Amino acid sequence: MRHNFGAGPCILPQEVFKQASQAVLDFKDGLSILEISHRTPEFEAVVDETVKLVKELMNVPSGYSVVLLQGGASLQFSMVPMNLLPQGGTAAYLETGVWANKAIKEVKNFGTANIVASSKADNYTFIPKGYSIPEDSAYFHCTSNNTIYGTEMFELPETNVPVVCDMSSDIMSHVVDVSKYDLIYAGAQKNIGPAGLTIAIVKDEVLGKSGRGIPSMLDYKVHIDGGSMYNTPPVFSIYVAMLNLRWLKSKGGVAEIEKENIAKANALYKEIDRNPLFKGTCAVEDRSRMNICFVMENPELEKPFLKFAEENGIEGIKGHRSVGGFRASMYNALPITSVHALIDLMQTFEENHK
Ligand code: PLP
Repeated sequence: MRHNFGAGPCILPQEVFKQASQAVLDFKDGLSILEISHRTPEFEAVVDETVKLVKELMNVPSGYSVVLLQGGASLQFSMVPMNLLPQGGTAAYLETGVWANKAIKEVKNFGTANIVASSKADNYTFIPKGYSIPEDSAYFHCTSNNTIYGTEMFELPETNVPVVCDMSSDIMSHVVDVSKYDLIYAGAQKNIGPAGLTIAIVKDEVLGKSGRGIPSMLDYKVHIDGGSMYNTPPVFSIYVAMLNLRWLKSKGGVAEIEKENIAKANALYKEIDRNPLFKGTCAVEDRSRMNICFVMENPELEKPFLKFAEENGIEGIKGHRSVGGFRASMYNALPITSVHALIDLMQTFEENHK
């Protein structure tokens, strides 16, 4: 049995992959999901159900639109200031990692990014706290889970300015109060579905205030008004996302998966803290439940441990090059049995190196 701890793209339950592959062969009357027209009632029903499931699973209040986009979370780095920041205005950004930094870089085309706090000097090993957000900021942007460094924000700062959040790597892994946000976006490819789909949850009242002309494909309003069908949507990614959201609903929804995610993360962090060979890389209170980063006390043992893990069915735990060591990504689809398999291996390795 292989255990996939890879950071992505697209870690989904086996049963979802099976259903998806069947629809490639025969979605309706012998036609593949890849070849039916996206303008058919059958595919429109897929888009409607996907949007409905996002609203239901995240308890999206009225006054918000859920829109299915393309271009990855990376395009959102530009779409957010393009749609929300008046020309020459200032937006507040929390710098918690590479992705936050990439979002910051895109602002210069439209105005100024005011970095209200940063953990860059400590290689992004913690989430800054206790900073203030100027009242005249057009919005405050944060990254809820820092996929590369393994930190996660479990609380938002108190602020009256609109809050924008990149939730690419922890969306639907724990309950969030959507009413506290004005715009949430996420590349789908961790907890939702295949790459190619980006989801945005937009409070309708924040749109239309930038004062600039926006190219249609980059205008949230155009996609909202077009029912996420302004142009040809990523049909397969949306279909698989719908299947996966059905799976999540059948598991009891986000609140239930959150319990599992807490159990999985607690179990692995406990072993990292107990086992003298390993140590975590992040501030304990900011440890991510999705991407668990750790190194070895003796770096010379890292290669042998990686080899040992791979020989025993553990896939994808090599750390990102900017952190080194290991990163165990534990998205919704990863069963707790896989976490126990990794823990067993860490213990066996410890026994073998006494
Ligand atoms: N933001 C976060 C938190 C991510 O983890 C990633 C990719 O892993 C991105 C943004 C970039 O997403 P995309 O590749 O969809 O543009």
